[in-house]
Amino acid sequence: MPDRRDFLKAAGATVVGSAITASSSAAAASPAIAAEPPQTAFLDANPRWVVRPFPLHRVSIMDGTVFAEKRDRVLQYAAAYPVDRVLHNFRVTAGLPRPPGSAPPGGWDDATGNLRGHFSGHLLTMFAQAYAGTGSSVYLDKVNQVVAGLAQCQQAMAGRFSHPGFLAAYPETQFIQLESFATYPTVWAPYYTCHKIMRGLLDAYLLTGNTQALQVVTRMGDWVHSRLSRLSRTTLNRMWAIYIAGENGAMNEVMADLFALTGNQNYLTASMYFDNRQSLFGACLANQDTLTRLHANTHVPQFLGYLRVFDQSGVAEYRTVAENFFRMVVPHRMYAHGGTSGTWPAAPGLAANTNPELFQPRGNISGSIGGNGAETCTTYNLLRVARNLFFHNPDPAYLEYYERGLVNHILGSRRDAASTSSPNVTYFFPLALGSVRSFGNLGTCCGGTGLENHTKYQETIYFRAPDNSALYVNLYIGSVLQWTEKGVTVTQTTDFPRAQESTLTISGSATFDLNLRIPQWADGFRLWINGVEQTGTKTPGTFLLVRRPWSAGDTVRVAFPFKTRTESTLDRTDVQAIRHGPLVLGAISTATTLRNFSLYANAKLDGRLALAPVTGATNQFTSNGLRLRPVYLGDTQAHHLYVRRNEPTIVFGTRNSGVPNRLSGTQSFLDAVWSGAPFADHPTFVARVQQVSTTWRGRGLLSQSEQTAVLNAARAAEPDLRP
Ligand SMILES: [Zn+2]
Repeated sequence: MPDRRDFLKAAGATVVGSAITASSSAAAASPAIAAEPPQTAFLDANPRWVVRPFPLHRVSIMDGTVFAEKRDRVLQYAAAYPVDRVLHNFRVTAGLPRPPGSAPPGGWDDATGNLRGHFSGHLLTMFAQAYAGTGSSVYLDKVNQVVAGLAQCQQAMAGRFSHPGFLAAYPETQFIQLESFATYPTVWAPYYTCHKIMRGLLDAYLLTGNTQALQVVTRMGDWVHSRLSRLSRTTLNRMWAIYIAGENGAMNEVMADLFALTGNQNYLTASMYFDNRQSLFGACLANQDTLTRLHANTHVPQFLGYLRVFDQSGVAEYRTVAENFFRMVVPHRMYAHGGTSGTWPAAPGLAANTNPELFQPRGNISGSIGGNGAETCTTYNLLRVARNLFFHNPDPAYLEYYERGLVNHILGSRRDAASTSSPNVTYFFPLALGSVRSFGNLGTCCGGTGLENHTKYQETIYFRAPDNSALYVNLYIGSVLQWTEKGVTVTQTTDFPRAQESTLTISGSATFDLNLRIPQWADGFRLWINGVEQTGTKTPGTFLLVRRPWSAGDTVRVAFPFKTRTESTLDRTDVQAIRHGPLVLGAISTATTLRNFSLYANAKLDGRLALAPVTGATNQFTSNGLRLRPVYLGDTQAHHLYVRRNEPTIVFGTRNSGVPNRLSGTQSFLDAVWSGAPFADHPTFVARVQQVSTTWRGRGLLSQSEQTAVLNAARAAEPDLRP
C-alpha cells in the first residue's frame, strides 16, 4: 500500500495542507476492530506466567458501585476531551496546521515545557481503556483519530528534521542532549515521555485492534533501538542515573512488549539498554536495600519493566531484582493507604529530606509523615508491579497489597465531583496530620496515571490458570466476567467496600477450580454454595479452593465482616492507623498534632473494636470525639490517617480498674492481653488477664492489690465484652 504522504505529494498536495482533512476523516477510515482485540492473544502468549489476567474488555464493572461512580466521572472527562488537543503539541512540532481554537493539554504539557507529549500518551491509554471497559464508539473514535493524527506527525517529522520513526511533541534535541549528560531542567525525562506515548499506542493496538498504532509504535521502537545501540553501556548507565533527566518510566516494558508482539530481537536488546546498572539493579540483585533518598517513581516502573524483560528473555536476574525491590518497599516503606515516599526531619545520623518524592529510610513510617508524600503515580506503579509479580508467583500477599492500595490510595485519589476540565485527582495523598487532599493535576504525572487508574478497575478482579482449569477471585468488586474459553459468565453482585458480602452467580456449565481469596483482614470469612453454608477451615491470607463442576444458576456467596482494628507503624507502636476491614479510616480534624485515641474500652471478645457508627453513613464512626471516615471518600476535609494510641488506665468495657496501663518494653498491659484475641468466651478472656497480670506482677509492674482490681474489672465487664 503506498505511503499516504507519498500519495499526497504525488497528488500535488502538501503534507501540511492535508493534515486537518486527514485527521477529521480518520474515524471513517479507521481500521476495523477485531472481535477479539489483540490483547487476548498477547496475554495468552506470555511464556512465563503461571496465572494470567483476563483481557480488559472481558470484565465490566457493575453500576452502582463506588468503582463505577469514580470511573464514570473520569469517563465524562474522556468523552468531553477534544482530540485536537491531544495532538496539538505534536502538530506544532511536525509543522502541521491546527484547527482554529486548538490548544495544548496544559500543565506540564503546555506549549513549551520539556515534558510536553506525556499527557497525550496517558489520554490515549485512557481512551483505549474506556473503550475496553464500555465498548462505546465514543472512545474508539477518539483512539482512531489520535492514532491517525500521531501517524501523520511521525511521517511529517521524518520528512523534516528527525531520524525515521521519531515521534514526540518536541524536537529530537532533548534525546541528543541527554547523551552528553545534560541535566534537569535542560532535559526533562525525554524517555519518560517516550514511554507514555509508546504505552498509549500499544494500548490502542492491544485494546482496540488499531493496527496503525502498532505500525507507529514499531517505528518508534526502531528509532529507540537505533539511537541507543550506538551508545556504550557506560554511557547508558550514566544517562539513566541523572536525576529526573534520565528518568525513563517503563521504557524496558514497552520495548519488551514490542518484542513479544513482533519477534524482532532488536526490541528485546533495546529493552535491556534501560537497565539501571549504575546503582539499583546490582543492589537489588544482591538484595541490598539502597532505596533511601532515591526518587520513588523514577524507579518503581523500571521494575515492572524488568519483569517484562524476564518474561521475554528468561534471564532470571530480571525477576529477582523485582521481587527483592518490592519487598524493600512493602512493608518497609509503606504507609497505611498503600503509598510510599515522604519527607523527614533531621535526626542523629540522618540528614533531613524536604523532597516528598524520595523513598524514606527503611522502616521510617511515623517519622516521615510530617509533610507531603505518597505520590499517587508511585502507587499506580506499585500496583502494576504487585500484580505482575503475582503472575509469576500467586502469593496472596501481592494481592493484599494491591487491595490496600486500590481501595484506599487510588479510590481516594479521585474527587467525588464531576469535571470535564480537570482530571480531579491527587498528586500527593499526604499523611500529614490535618492534611487536605488537593485535587486537579491537569498535565502532571499523577494527573496522567490518574486518568488510567479509574478506567481499569476491572484488571485484577479475576485471574485464571493458563489452561483455564482454575479461576481466581482476587477482589470482591461488583462486576461481570465473560470467561469465553469456558463458556461461562460470572456475575459478582456486591457494593464492596460499602458492603461486607458478595454473591457470584455462574451461568454456563463447566468444571473448574474456584479460588476465593480470603483477605488477611477477613477472619470472619464465611461461604455458602447454592445457599448451603460450607464449614471447614478458612484461613485469612490464603485462597480457599472450591473444586466441583459448575452449572448455570449456581451461586457462591461469601461474607467478610469488616472488623475495626488498629495497625501500628513500624517505627512507633503508639502511632496507629485505624482500619475497618480493608479500609483506612481517617479521623476528621484540622489539628496538626497527633490526636490521642483510647480504644480498648471498645474492644470485644472477638478482638473487634466496636466504635459508635454514624447513623445513615456507611463505614463511618465516631470515637474520641472525632468522626472516622474511609479515605475513599474523595473530598477536601482535613483528616488524620494516623492517631496516637493513648491508653492510660487498664479498662475493660465500662469497667475502669483505675490501675495504670504500664509498659513492659514497648508493650502495654492491655496490648499483651488483647494480643490473645479472639477469645472463645469470657472465662477464656479472664484466664488471659490472670496470666498477663501474673507476668506483669513478676516484672514488678503490678502490685497485688492492683492485680486484684484488674481481675475484678475483667470479671465484671462480661456484658460489655460480648461481641
Ligand atoms: Zn506523580
